[in-house]
Amino acid sequence: MTKWVYSFGDGKAEGRAGDRNLLGGKGANLAEMSSLGLPVPPGFTITTEACNTYFEKEEKYPEGLKDEVEKALAEVGRIVGRKFGDRQNSLLVSVRSGARASMPGMMDTVLNLGLNDETVKALAEESGDERFAYDSYRRFIQMYSDVVLGVDHGNFEEILEDEKAKLGHDLDTELTAAEWRAVIDLYKAKVKEELGEPFPQEPQAQLWGAIGAVFSSWMNQRAITYRRLHDIPESWGTAVNVQAMVFGNLGDDSATGVAFTRNPSTGDNQLYGEFLVNAQGEDVVAGIRTPQNITEAARQAAGSDKPSLEKVMPDAFASFVDISSRLESHYRDMQDLEFTIERGKLWMLQTRNGKRTARAAMKIAVDMAAEGLISKEEAVQRVEPASLDQLLHPTIDPDAKRDVIGIGLPASPGAATGEIVFSSEAAEEAKKAGRKVILVRVETSPEDIHGMHAAEGILTTRGGMTSHAAVVARGMGKPCVSGAGSLRVDYRKGELIAAGATLKAGDLITIDGGNGQVLKGEVAMLQPELSGDFAAIMEWADQIRRMKVRTNAETPADARTARSFGAEGIGLCRTEHMFFEGDRIVAMREMILADTEEGRRAALAKLLPMQRSDFVELFEIMAGLPVTIRLLDPPLHEFLPKTEEEIAEVAKAMGVSADKLRQRTEALHEFNPMLGHRGCRLAVSYPEIAEMQAQAIFEAAAEAARKTGSPVVPEVMVPLVGIVKELEYVKQRIDDVAKKVMEKSGRKIDYLVGTMIELPRAALRADAIAKDAEFFSFGTNDLTQTTFGISRDDAASFLEVYRKKDIIAQDPFVSLDVEGVGELVRIAAEKGRAARKGIKLGICGEHGGDPSSIRFCEEVGLDYVSCSPFRVPIARLAAAQAAARS
Ligand code: PEP
Ligand code: MG
Repeated sequence: MTKWVYSFGDGKAEGRAGDRNLLGGKGANLAEMSSLGLPVPPGFTITTEACNTYFEKEEKYPEGLKDEVEKALAEVGRIVGRKFGDRQNSLLVSVRSGARASMPGMMDTVLNLGLNDETVKALAEESGDERFAYDSYRRFIQMYSDVVLGVDHGNFEEILEDEKAKLGHDLDTELTAAEWRAVIDLYKAKVKEELGEPFPQEPQAQLWGAIGAVFSSWMNQRAITYRRLHDIPESWGTAVNVQAMVFGNLGDDSATGVAFTRNPSTGDNQLYGEFLVNAQGEDVVAGIRTPQNITEAARQAAGSDKPSLEKVMPDAFASFVDISSRLESHYRDMQDLEFTIERGKLWMLQTRNGKRTARAAMKIAVDMAAEGLISKEEAVQRVEPASLDQLLHPTIDPDAKRDVIGIGLPASPGAATGEIVFSSEAAEEAKKAGRKVILVRVETSPEDIHGMHAAEGILTTRGGMTSHAAVVARGMGKPCVSGAGSLRVDYRKGELIAAGATLKAGDLITIDGGNGQVLKGEVAMLQPELSGDFAAIMEWADQIRRMKVRTNAETPADARTARSFGAEGIGLCRTEHMFFEGDRIVAMREMILADTEEGRRAALAKLLPMQRSDFVELFEIMAGLPVTIRLLDPPLHEFLPKTEEEIAEVAKAMGVSADKLRQRTEALHEFNPMLGHRGCRLAVSYPEIAEMQAQAIFEAAAEAARKTGSPVVPEVMVPLVGIVKELEYVKQRIDDVAKKVMEKSGRKIDYLVGTMIELPRAALRADAIAKDAEFFSFGTNDLTQTTFGISRDDAASFLEVYRKKDIIAQDPFVSLDVEGVGELVRIAAEKGRAARKGIKLGICGEHGGDPSSIRFCEEVGLDYVSCSPFRVPIARLAAAQAAARS
């Protein structure tokens, strides 16, 4: 018989921290805390398996579940001395979801369950606080109706606002018990009106309604979107946690709060968090009241005049500090905690590894290694490679003039500039149109995820460091300023109103997520500092990784950036990219459009010196590190002149009429340029092109070696080979040129000739190809294009649909399709090695900078990955993590 329910409480638990697949993160950690003897309200977890079975059985509860829940509930009652459903001594519970991976704001919660017209009276009597009891009951009706019954919470807010206006109250806290009772009657009437049925009074019915709602929320649109964005499989399911209620709203000696054991934004080793006195559960995260600091130090730093927890509840604070540090040592990682203080007694509601910015992740990992809590190898595993992106983003130049129009909380670091938009829809539209925007909202909700993704940064006028905007932006690595209370948003007029300035949608603003400033206009930015903790983690990563990391670069600027990021050579120099600018493109077009060898040679003669000097510079920058130069691979459509001016310009340079040139352009037109006359096909048709390039490469190598005094070993790469004889033919030309240059310069030049593997046929014939190729570089952009038969230029429009419909999990042009494309890479690597012992293997498609693809490259045993300059640090770290895991 499958066990569906796991109990915890009273210093014991049936589950452990390791059971998160079955119990979800929250459930597993509640069990663990309970076993550690920490004060956790007793409860039980319904497993993720029960959720999956529920969906398999068309939303019917699995057999045996009801009995297990009943038993577990009785045990909870025994521990707290109450009984669920009892009129006098009723056990009230919370019902919360808890998936394997944390999904903030994605799932739903119901508190105070078990309250009804009878039990509320008992609660009033027992607590001696009638107002509290009726406030709790109305919250329950509101939450339950919204989450379980599907009656929108707006209905209840409207009723409450109307009542408050009638009674002349500004705040919820001003309502008396009798007034809450009247509100409750109106709430219940509303439910009846909306559903045609009364609000459920029976606690058992309430409980099962809530359990079903948590299960169903796994399939709500918000959860589905979140899963898609975070690659969380649907098959994981969610667990349900049912727990005895503790109340943070039982008066001024009660409170509720959230905290991190270290600062999640900076990584500083200081307890960091917020709380509200006399408040319940979600009040803190909801951002309706401005929370207070937990420690005195944080209060002083924030310049807040609201007292800290340390000051107002010193005993509860002391136990909280003690528990926080115990939990951090126990989990050996920074913890994100939720707690409630009920009449002076501290209760722990949640612990989990805290989300943090990349900067904080670095600092925490380096500090914990120094504290001896974790090893350097573990420290390297603690930083998410993709998150390094955040550190590589610009910050505001300290010398820049700042026109500060408001200030909020530094919720997520980095600075961003963009046009103001007031809705997520507008953010998405602007992004599609290629514009950069800052999403400005009073506060954000899970419905805004897509807008937050589209924006460069997020600004809210309400909410704390743990508000939705702050938590989600940090996770996304986007700059965010939250709770900028001095600014006002007028959605109707489309205005952001600051003291002394009114900005409209479309106006430029800059936010500084590092200090919370909101600035008018665009501000000068600085490139990031890569020393300190960053350098330490990178150094440790470099000690661990096996694969080399090179860069894809052709300009000196990119090559220098890549070296400063630690690139160990160039893995792909796309020579056609060297001809996009200025008069080069004209010479390039002349070469492409020439219809005689003579004409082509004339154009090539113009290109040769440009190529040579470019290569000399690259070789110098790379100072003896390997440089792979790829022969010309221009998809022709990218290079043909398009406008009349372009045609006239090239015609003039070639001394032919515009008409003739137009005809030639039309003759060169291809239906499928990506599968057309490109790559080595061009070199086979016009060997003089490859010869010019080879000459430029070898002359540059000789010159750079002479200048720097150290040898340069160029790697000449032939693109788009599918047939062995293509490579043979081109290699012969390269070798001939090499010989000539060596004779002329009197210098011996060592060099390698290799090929890209970017066609399925090349992968399948890799053993034969390896006889001529001294190295392979996997061109996984084209290999993906040709394996799937999906045009890389046209894929975006329908691949998104494929992702939404779950036909593919990830865009294969972003993350390597291990099963298909990966299989070809595997085959080619094996065949290549079998035919040529020690053949050098690398990857230079976009996947070379993608962490999960890098993991695959490690598995296959490639020698290096090559990626764009800004991804070099990401690749170094990902390669280290992959090496440590393999
Ligand atoms: C590739 O196809 O993966 C590659 C690196 O070449 P390009 O993107 O230039 O076609
Ligand atoms: Mg290619």
